[in-house]
Amino acid sequence: MTDYSGMMHKFICDVIDRCGPRPSCSDAEKKAGRMYADAIRNCCDEVRTESFECHPHAFVGFIPFLVPLYFLALVFYWRAPLASVVFMAVLAASFFFEFIRYRRFLDPLFPKRSGENVYGVIRPSGQAKRRIIFAGHLDSAYEFNIWLLFKSAGVALCVLSIALSMVFFAACAGKVIAGNRPEWFFDLCGRIALFGFPLFTLNLVFHTYKPVPGAGDNLSACAVTVGMAKTLAGARKGGGFFPRNTEVVLMGTSSEEAGLRGALAYCEAHMAEMKSLPTLFVSLESFHDENELKIVRGGMTPYVKHPKDVVDDFVKAGKDMGLNIPVVVIPFGAADCAEFQRRGIPSVGVIGIPTKKLPPYYHTRYDTPEVVSPAALQRAMELSLRFLELREGKG
Ligand SMILES: [Zn+2]
Repeated sequence: MTDYSGMMHKFICDVIDRCGPRPSCSDAEKKAGRMYADAIRNCCDEVRTESFECHPHAFVGFIPFLVPLYFLALVFYWRAPLASVVFMAVLAASFFFEFIRYRRFLDPLFPKRSGENVYGVIRPSGQAKRRIIFAGHLDSAYEFNIWLLFKSAGVALCVLSIALSMVFFAACAGKVIAGNRPEWFFDLCGRIALFGFPLFTLNLVFHTYKPVPGAGDNLSACAVTVGMAKTLAGARKGGGFFPRNTEVVLMGTSSEEAGLRGALAYCEAHMAEMKSLPTLFVSLESFHDENELKIVRGGMTPYVKHPKDVVDDFVKAGKDMGLNIPVVVIPFGAADCAEFQRRGIPSVGVIGIPTKKLPPYYHTRYDTPEVVSPAALQRAMELSLRFLELREGKG
């Protein structure tokens, strides 16, 4: 297979040079989308740009507002616990629906913006019997302060602060239900919540409005799909594998970092089309290191489980390349494949980032082209193409 690692890495550098960091729905994200379209145009039968509207600041922007809710619940805890229950219920529901379930719970409270999903279609040489979408996202995250400062301990601090608020919520509800009996117990709970308040205030500064370069997360995946486009275009002219019955869609989504809103928009606009021609969605994500490739078989927030036969085919694609690629479940956070999967479109994810320890470049200013290995891009590209060939072989 042609080595496109240099070209793919250069694509990442060029986009960062010309667009810079790309918050969801920003002009920079749209400019990156146009560069992506230009990079795949000659290799595809058709390239489309689709606009949609969403509220990109809701997904992480609501987090600081949890702190005043917690504070108000504390103020009322001893004198009017019912009011505390109400404040903590709002806090818990916001966190659960917006952040754990990726629902548009508080979205209408945040400003509306428009994003653009960009994709190219490569039609098969024969009749299309299925469609496979390979996608990366064009946007980059806002920097996570706490993770930048405290590294892996930052994750623990965030989890601890949320656990604290849940215990406090239970105490508020328990105090009302039990009529404040035994008093010493609910007094103790209140004191714990009070002394834990400084920890909870970390949520005020959890993230910034300073976007990161996002070379690995996730221009690396966009670059991989550019490499796939070039490889398939070469194969169509002669030599190498070109699909006979599989339509290939290569996509750069918008607003993944804003809670998968670009994937959601695509699903809402194309559901009938994806049902009429069986469609499979593959999220490609953060190809930093060729030795850290992993297949994602599901996630916990939101809870999704990807089909076993699809996961197995990716593992088999790895074996065919002489690689033993581990299969993982993502405990926290999600990629676009989660949105497709829960809407009934079979999906899977492929990542190329360490998952045991928080890498220093994850959602920080250090996510620059230097921390993206060209060999990881090439390996991810070959793996994806091998997977495509295996699915094509299914008749
Ligand atoms: Zn990402």
